[in-house]
Amino acid sequence: MKWEGNRESDNVEDRRGDGGDGGGGGGGLPFGGRSIGLGTVAVALVASYFLGINPLTMLDMLSGGGGQAPLQQQQQAPAHKPPPEDQMARFVSTVLADTEDTWGPLFAASGKQYVRPKLVLFSGRTATACGTGQTATGPFYCPGDQKVYIDLSFYELMKQRFKVSGNFAQAYVIAHEVGHHVQHLLGISDKVDAARRNATEKQANAMSVRLELQADCFAGVWAYHANQARHIIEDGDIEEALNAASAIGDDALQRQARGEVVPDSFTHGTSAQRVAWFKRGITEGQVSACNTFAAKQL
Ligand SMILES: [Zn+2]
Repeated sequence: MKWEGNRESDNVEDRRGDGGDGGGGGGGLPFGGRSIGLGTVAVALVASYFLGINPLTMLDMLSGGGGQAPLQQQQQAPAHKPPPEDQMARFVSTVLADTEDTWGPLFAASGKQYVRPKLVLFSGRTATACGTGQTATGPFYCPGDQKVYIDLSFYELMKQRFKVSGNFAQAYVIAHEVGHHVQHLLGISDKVDAARRNATEKQANAMSVRLELQADCFAGVWAYHANQARHIIEDGDIEEALNAASAIGDDALQRQARGEVVPDSFTHGTSAQRVAWFKRGITEGQVSACNTFAAKQL
């Protein structure tokens, strides 16, 4: 993916080193005052991000179920920008800018205003309007403060655990989270949340799958427009993203986690579904192509 020299977003908040990563040491990461191994973190991260477990639930599980006191907003240092020489931060800032330049005009074209989300870089744990965000929750979007949270060590995990590397695959992760922001702005996630409250677990999971696949499709819409405007896609990039989508489908993850697949518990969709919807977005480039809720066949 070609990105260097493109616009970088001002909406990146760098909270790394704000004290949220405490004093773990020894290669472990601190959780609620105790240090746990990277392997545990990896497993928890996979469970929460890919299986669509609510980050707060995951958090609670990690801290032993008792729930730990959430970090208070006032504990946070004032928002600051990442250092200009930080290549990885520049990359995510460029991807975020790219999503802004895609979704702004798309919203405007349908008479709506796109509110740009913030992207927060953190390490360890950080306060969010959705509770305390932790490395182990993986990248996530919090509608309460309209921010995407990511600990960049997640990319290392993608590489090591899922053999998914390459910057287009990394951009896809951010575009997927921004896709959740778009769903929030369009009122889709609110509707789904309300419907899920009166649904059986099976129905609720099915709705989550459609929400997740739509975010994948929206990531495709971003890729379509970004490429039209800035020719960012290089040979092998699409395959890279599809590879990421298929490596992290619920079925692939469940197989890896417990050696079997239980379709009713899918909340992100199967590998094939994720690939199909991303493809659809990147081929058609339109929000209307992403109506997973109307689709008979996912
Ligand atoms: Zn998602």
